Amino acid sequence: MTAFLSVRDLHVRFDTEDGTVKAVDGLSFDVRKGETLGIVGESGSGKSVTNLAVLGLHDPRSTEIRGEILLDGQELTAAPESVLEKLRGNKMAMIFQDSLTALSPYYTVGRQISEPFRKHTGASKRDARLRAIEMLEKVGIPNAGLRVDDYPHQFSGGMRQRAMIAMALVCDPELLIADEPTTALDVTVQAQILDLLKDLQQQTGAAIVLITHDLGVVGHTVDEVLVMYAGRAVERGTVDEVLREPQHPYTWGLLGSMPRLTSDVTEPLTPIPGTPPSLLAPPPGCPFHPRCAFVSDVGGNRCRSERPELPATGRGSACHLTPNQKRTTFTERIKPR
Ligand code: SF4
Ligand code: MG
Repeated sequence: MTAFLSVRDLHVRFDTEDGTVKAVDGLSFDVRKGETLGIVGESGSGKSVTNLAVLGLHDPRSTEIRGEILLDGQELTAAPESVLEKLRGNKMAMIFQDSLTALSPYYTVGRQISEPFRKHTGASKRDARLRAIEMLEKVGIPNAGLRVDDYPHQFSGGMRQRAMIAMALVCDPELLIADEPTTALDVTVQAQILDLLKDLQQQTGAAIVLITHDLGVVGHTVDEVLVMYAGRAVERGTVDEVLREPQHPYTWGLLGSMPRLTSDVTEPLTPIPGTPPSLLAPPPGCPFHPRCAFVSDVGGNRCRSERPELPATGRGSACHLTPNQKRTTFTERIKPR
């Protein structure tokens, strides 16, 4: 199946007082209908910026975008705002992290769900209200016919997140971008929301991009994983490949800093030392080298001088370690026992 969303060699740069920030630096990925791509990385890795660029929600005065964004064959980087506005909330929609800021406190939940529906379909007020109730039922809000007239503050955090999903899905989008959709919720509610997204995807066949800093979230939810670091993709594979046999030292670090929910003993977490690099002046060579424990396993000064590239397609990682070193280092030195 051909990709529904295809991003090719995307570069996003911002002008700031201190200089030019290379927020995304040559990123490519594909998402097909009915599939979920998980984009994983720490904050500042470029994952949210990438998706704002897809939706055309960046500030055009200070942002430079190069590369290709194809949605169902339509090129979006050069598309005028009028075209993007017709697509947003309609063919593509987004779920944000924080439902309290994404939902307006001044309007009822029902009005906020029905508004994009009226805008894109021209439906009457009455039909749009019925559609809002139907959507609230779909996302599991009990007594939807009554709750439709509530204001966001009358909903719990989990219910607000469900309402936001209802709002995003009201026009049956074919691409859904969910940016940290469960971060603000407790673990049980997180699992419910992720299950809900999966169920809805099975009904609609939408393509989903799930953005998260938490590798634990991708496990049961996504088909493919892209790990991002400093504006670049550093590892790509199916969710099984990336979780069972991760190849990149940064991914090992993400796994190490993940709480082990299955273990009986509480093991200490080993967070990745250091902080992500400044994107004003990224380090030369491998952008991860200042934080990497395996620099000396690579011959010469390669990690500090030569940038490793991710293979253009398929399974792979952007790291100078040999395939054999990647395998044995992970299984013998990293893998949790
Ligand atoms: Fe670490 Fe070198 Fe691999 Fe970069 S290329 S992740 S510095 S071993
Ligand atoms: Mg973000």
